[in-house]
Amino acid sequence: MTEPLFRDDAYLRLCEARVVAAAPGGIVLDRTVFYAVGGGQPGDTGVLRLPDGRTIAILDTVKGSGAEEIIHVPAPDATLPAPGTALTAEIDWQRRYRLMRMHTCLHLLCSLVPGAVTGGQIGDGRGRLDFDVPGASLDKAAIEERLNALIAAAHAVAPRWIGDEELARRPELVRTMSVKPPVGAGRVRLVEIAGVDLQPCGGTHIRNTAEIGPVAVAKIENKGRQNRRVILAFAE
Ligand SMILES: [Zn+2]
Repeated sequence: MTEPLFRDDAYLRLCEARVVAAAPGGIVLDRTVFYAVGGGQPGDTGVLRLPDGRTIAILDTVKGSGAEEIIHVPAPDATLPAPGTALTAEIDWQRRYRLMRMHTCLHLLCSLVPGAVTGGQIGDGRGRLDFDVPGASLDKAAIEERLNALIAAAHAVAPRWIGDEELARRPELVRTMSVKPPVGAGRVRLVEIAGVDLQPCGGTHIRNTAEIGPVAVAKIENKGRQNRRVILAFAE
């Protein structure tokens, strides 16, 4: 099991940790700031700093076989650390922060477009959501204007936990049909943008929508009769 420190504090850039296991395919630590790919958000990249000054480049982060196991994927030529080694795990913060800003921006987009979300992907500087919009076309300029207004309104963003039973009673909270929230652990993590959006999400988010900065609706594509793909990009 890996303690996922990013879940309670997405702004942590580094942490001290100990190697649990190491193989060419990946390194498992007892705790980490590295987010594992999931929910449309890419895994973190960064470095592991060893006590002797060497560093191991981490090219990706993925989930292991267990639900709470996080695997740091090293560069192919890396010399692996021995289990028990104490090290410092540090993410590429500039990249992660852009992913957090775009991720949170997609929550705002979700609140503006009617219809179920059928897919989504967060990229570095860009992001997209696919919506099932029965019989409607989407107004690119109007969405962009309302999105930037929500960003500028500086809404607070915060995680909140609810029990599985309450979530079962409130199915309207689940907008993203392609990514079912992880029930069964007794509680589910929600992300609330005060007064705007509330939905289950295990990703990393910024604390205030103002941090997103100006965005543009780059494109709206028709992906089938009812499916609309809205692609966002940072405007600066
Ligand atoms: Zn989220």
